[in-house]
Amino acid sequence: RAKAEGRNAFQLYQPAMNARSLEHLALESALHRALERDELVLHFQPLVEIAGGRTVAAEALLRWRHPELGLVSPADFIPLAEETGLIVPIGEWVLRTACLQHRRWRELGHANLRMLVNISARQFRDDNLADLVARVVHETAMPAGLLTLELTESMLMENSSRGIDVLERLRRLGVRLALDDFGTGYSSLAYLKRFPIDELKIDRLFIRDIERNPEDAAIADAIVKLAHSLGLRVVAEGVESAAQLDILARHGCDLAQGYHFCRPVEAAQFPL
Ligand code: C2E
Ligand code: MG
Ligand code: MG
Ligand code: MG
Repeated sequence: RAKAEGRNAFQLYQPAMNARSLEHLALESALHRALERDELVLHFQPLVEIAGGRTVAAEALLRWRHPELGLVSPADFIPLAEETGLIVPIGEWVLRTACLQHRRWRELGHANLRMLVNISARQFRDDNLADLVARVVHETAMPAGLLTLELTESMLMENSSRGIDVLERLRRLGVRLALDDFGTGYSSLAYLKRFPIDELKIDRLFIRDIERNPEDAAIADAIVKLAHSLGLRVVAEGVESAAQLDILARHGCDLAQGYHFCRPVEAAQFPL
């Protein structure tokens, strides 16, 4: 039985699987080496206070300078890094590198700038996350209050009581917490007040058509009101035009981030 069926299955299935898994393996070992070979880089995108127009924070965004492929975007390799667990050492590198960059900016006199760092689901599931953050903050002399970790709703929903526990441990270190891509996940509003979160980032999905689509404008408005009533600050992601910014200003949104101000850039180009 095994012979007949197995052989057919083998012949029909094997070539495609081979190609896929080979590609996967090649990328995986390249990603392994990326860390050792210094191919990872952070870009930074400003967060701007809507009222005053000041840059008050930087979000660290990871890129991979692949020797042949060029600059690879995180959407193309973070899923693989998650799947293989490589995101754990990579995430540690991101956190440390962002904190070290922040120290350089502090040394240049930007004492109040905040730094935002994305945390992946796998990192969040890792029981060592709070210890890791504590260690890196200590080693890099990062003022914890200026560090914000970005999480997503789905990460918190996965296991909410454990989630709250981790968030509270992080909060005790003095770091701040933001919910990234807000509105795209489960958006269980009841949970919002249970999670010790400081900031909501409205996903770019709701900002994109905010001028033309009254529903998107209503959603953005509702998120701002809800956030403010819970004492949270609100960031609009993906702001690409003055018209969008104008609407967000009228809704009382606190901060904005997007190509309208600046694309993610290398530290040396960061507009301070
Ligand atoms: P995110 O954290 O929601 O980051 C915002 C993404 O929107 C970034 O894409 C940024 O370049 C892009 N963006 C900013 N302004 C605009 C705009 O005005 N228009 C448009 N169309 N896009 C804009 P990026 O850098 O490709 O990152 C994609 C995602 O990859 C991030 O989404 C985040 O979830 C993840 N990521 C990036 N860096 C890291 C990291 O260091 N660790 C982890 N775990 N995830 C990361
Ligand atoms: Mg983010
Ligand atoms: Mg986002
Ligand atoms: Mg995201």
